[in-house]
Amino acid sequence: MSARADLAVIELASASDVGRARSDNQDRDLVAPPLIAVADGMGGHQGGGTAAGIAVDALREVGATTNPTDLLNALKEANRAIGRAAFDEPGLAGMGTTATAALLEGGILYLVHVGDSRAYLIRDGRIIQVTEDHSVVAEMVRRGTLAPDAAGSHPARHVITRALGVDADVAIDALRVDLEPGDVVLLCTDGLSGPVPDADILDAVEGAATLEAAADALVHRANAAGGPDNITVVLARVDAVTREAAAAA
Ligand code: MG
Repeated sequence: MSARADLAVIELASASDVGRARSDNQDRDLVAPPLIAVADGMGGHQGGGTAAGIAVDALREVGATTNPTDLLNALKEANRAIGRAAFDEPGLAGMGTTATAALLEGGILYLVHVGDSRAYLIRDGRIIQVTEDHSVVAEMVRRGTLAPDAAGSHPARHVITRALGVDADVAIDALRVDLEPGDVVLLCTDGLSGPVPDADILDAVEGAATLEAAADALVHRANAAGGPDNITVVLARVDAVTREAAAAA
């Protein structure tokens, strides 16, 4: 076994907050190590929370998998289930959700991702956005038709191009990243990454004594920046563990 295979999740934290502009929180999160996830629902009074809940439940049912294909299948099943529920109940028509899930297993980060919730990797004092946003604005930036620093204020910044529950088929990004000791994986909804710049997200995590404190600090920063949307963040730190400690865990 390589040293990397002895990496395991040693610390976890999450926080979710309605923010300062919305009346209800339609974000959902999952903390079920080695699996973590966030989902940002949209549509109707109850639709958003329902759609995000279906996505998170589908991931939870995967359980203690070590097979990233299970995550892909869970999101495909959630896509169908949300579509069926929206069809069956008029009050839920038009609902959908983002989903970003991370499996931290054997020193490898497996990600599946739809929408504009994000996964970041914090390593050696740097923050790296691992996922690509599936949004109108992000695609304009990638095509070179919009300057990156204009994206945050663009009127279409909340318009996403992919979501679960909208079409019978959905393209799901699947990514794989080798982890290093001390890495922190951060998943969040756009209620954090919209109003809080990446450098400030990094600053909040590096300045906190624990991931729990970091999660609270991130929510605080998003609200201090106006709290325009629901805010959800999940953090996981990996480090080398002895085989005895891994067995005990
Ligand atoms: Mg949102």
